[in-house]
Amino acid sequence: MDRYDVVIVGARCAGSPLATILAQRGLRVCLLDKATFPSETPSTSAFQSNGVDVLRRIGVLDEILAAGAYVVDKATVTSTRQKFVVDIDPEVYGQTIGMRRTTLDKILVDFAAAAGVEVRTNCPVSDVLTDGGRVIGVMTRSGPVYAELVIGADGRQSTVAKSLGAEEYCTRPPGRLPTWAFYEGVAPDVGFYFGTVKRPQGGTTGYLGIPLDGCFLVSVNVPMDQSSRFLEDRYSNFDSELARFPELADIVEGATRVGPLRVLQKWHGYFRRSAGPGWALVGDAGHFKDYSLGQGQSDAFRQAEYLAERIVSGFDHQGLDEELLSWWRWRDTDAWQMYWANCLLGEAYLPSSMADAMFGLAARDPAMAEQFSYIFNKKVAPLQIASPPTLAKLGPQVLWNVIAEARRDRLQGLRALGAFALFSARFLRDHPRSVLGTRRYRFAPIESLADVSQRRGRSRQG
Ligand SMILES: Cc1cc2nc3c(=O)[nH]c(=O)nc-3n(C[C@H](O)[C@H](O)[C@H](O)COP(=O)(O)OP(=O)(O)OC[C@H]3O[C@@H](n4cnc5c(N)ncnc54)[C@H](O)[C@@H]3O)c2cc1C
Repeated sequence: MDRYDVVIVGARCAGSPLATILAQRGLRVCLLDKATFPSETPSTSAFQSNGVDVLRRIGVLDEILAAGAYVVDKATVTSTRQKFVVDIDPEVYGQTIGMRRTTLDKILVDFAAAAGVEVRTNCPVSDVLTDGGRVIGVMTRSGPVYAELVIGADGRQSTVAKSLGAEEYCTRPPGRLPTWAFYEGVAPDVGFYFGTVKRPQGGTTGYLGIPLDGCFLVSVNVPMDQSSRFLEDRYSNFDSELARFPELADIVEGATRVGPLRVLQKWHGYFRRSAGPGWALVGDAGHFKDYSLGQGQSDAFRQAEYLAERIVSGFDHQGLDEELLSWWRWRDTDAWQMYWANCLLGEAYLPSSMADAMFGLAARDPAMAEQFSYIFNKKVAPLQIASPPTLAKLGPQVLWNVIAEARRDRLQGLRALGAFALFSARFLRDHPRSVLGTRRYRFAPIESLADVSQRRGRSRQG
């Protein structure tokens, strides 16, 4: 009979590092994935230095860098009326990396196997096995795999979460439609591109451009409620949207687009119940947020590292379930501010007066630019930026932008004012420290063993 200390379902950013650390700490780990590697997964493939630090501590970073990962050292940033280029010193800021998921995920899986993890690919898990309300293993095509602990690192469509009826909370609708394409023939040192530009059809388009190992990725993101129109003629719409960020369009001019345009039509933001007797969820299986700020991969690495500590401590002190609950609490506390910031900045109707004010401030004031940039690797918390002193600097700028818009075109000015008022209302309503915000971010209560078996019974009947 197959029996392990831990069985992990899903072998990418969350699952493989978690398996590696647990094996490094002496546990018997089985890592299962329905995919074979290398294989692609939806991602724009840029990840933050706080996640890179985890990979360094695990010992896999040198291999990733040797395989051609791009380390961001320059960023070109644009909004509708602001543009600036900034040099980034990875020694000071930390290493933000661009790497194809086909390359990265394969390295992570192989590294786990080399650390002593039993890796089984092409191995879909169909269900979670329980005994008296406690999870005891998973079912695969070739039979059951038993373990003291089952981890769902199986992404947004998590089978582990579905089998256990782990419901969602704090859900958010999608802001934009992500579309992205890979190009060959772009110089490897052109740097990182990031922007949000007003569209004549309403709302703003979000942009990302980044060199990866051996290719360049461009992502164009239009408001979700305009996605059907975009998709009717996706290739020419992608190119015409790109033309409104000319610096980025120039980079891929003359380069070859490789493979189809990638699109993800269905997604939303959520948290899920993430721990119970003998089980936990990590990475996207437990929490997903707007991808615009590129947080998912580094969060998965950081979560894997934190959860591994809790698991090891649980096995050492016979208190596994308590440790799993404390992991879940930590995950929610760690994630909520960035969730809020992601929802706001991924907002398809983020007023361009606001983006112009923020980027204008960053362009003129290097200290402010530094503060903004440290949101990405979580050295600065979003609420530190959304503080009264920064808002006092931003407010007049936004107003000035609205007045300038009104001078150019009165109707546009009125619209800009309306957009800003609406955005401010949402900002206050959702603010994690406002009364309403606190209600909206109310986390699920930690459940008991009896709750789990009851809920499981209900979800089976449904
Ligand atoms: C459009 C888009 C763009 C993004 N861009 C970025 C970005 O630029 N930077 C960033 O940091 N993050 C980005 N993200 C988020 C990032 O991709 C994820 O947060 C990250 O991949 C999460 O890793 P994970 O290991 O939790 O899940 P996943 O990467 O989804 O891996 C889950 C694994 O589980 C396996 N699996 C699923 N079900 C089963 C089953 N039943 N049996 C066996 N195996 C199973 C799957 O095959 C898969 O390999 C983006 C996401 C999207 C959707």
